[in-house]
Amino acid sequence: MLVGLKEVLEEGKRRQIAVANFNTPNLESLIAVLEAAEELDVPVIIAHAQLHERIVPIDRVGPMMVELAKRSKTRVCVHLDHGEDFEYCKRAIDFGFTSIMIDFSDLPYDENTKGTRMVTDYAHEHGVDVEGELGALPEREGSEAMDVRKREQPAPGDERELYTKPELVGDFLEKTNVDALAIAFGAVHGLYKKEPNLDMELITEITKKTDIPLVMHGGSGVSDEDYREVIRRGIRKINYYSYMAYAGYAKAKEIVNTVEADYYHNIGYGARQVMKADALRILKVFSHM
Ligand SMILES: [Zn+2]
Repeated sequence: MLVGLKEVLEEGKRRQIAVANFNTPNLESLIAVLEAAEELDVPVIIAHAQLHERIVPIDRVGPMMVELAKRSKTRVCVHLDHGEDFEYCKRAIDFGFTSIMIDFSDLPYDENTKGTRMVTDYAHEHGVDVEGELGALPEREGSEAMDVRKREQPAPGDERELYTKPELVGDFLEKTNVDALAIAFGAVHGLYKKEPNLDMELITEITKKTDIPLVMHGGSGVSDEDYREVIRRGIRKINYYSYMAYAGYAKAKEIVNTVEADYYHNIGYGARQVMKADALRILKVFSHM
């Protein structure tokens, strides 16, 4: 069934688990994720990232996501990932998304809070939940390929500059009125080039300031042990995508290289099977199964 972000995150809190957020920019990943969540009877968030607009427009994939969520046996939130402007957020709301993330984290603090508040007020009027971001991840996934606002990159060694500052959390939440907060504590979008070094203590510090559900982006490529630790410390939503997408890619490549002449649909089907296996694996970790 189609539900809001607050509802799945409340279940997450009750069960002391993290709810997985998967981007689903094609039918294969969408089916893979829904089947995996239904099999385990866990809540799930399916998301369309604004930067995937070129790969799959929201007016095509959005209605498909909403309809399949409504028909699902499990609790499914349909979410806009990294909304970058108000207009696009409004479009997602028009298509029936139950949750949006507005990401003004690359703007100066005052612009971030003011812009986020405008979106929050509009979304709440329409019964839609909102995730905001305070602090920033160094790169948006796929941003090198897309015409999105470029972040200034921190100098090596200065990455901590982008981390969420606990002393701003109370003020940010009061000014923006968001329902979930994405924080930055060392994770990186995309495939990791080296082991991420997560500042676990920072999560705990932030949970002392607020009981709002906390969100981790860049959740791919983290060890199972670290996932359990961030969940234990209070992360309730983890955005996981890159490694599932990579698993699908690797399988497609294997099929192309080993099968002489075949149909395109068999590539998609093969990729879907391995993406489902990957989703099952990560959902079990996030749900302590
Ligand atoms: Zn993200």
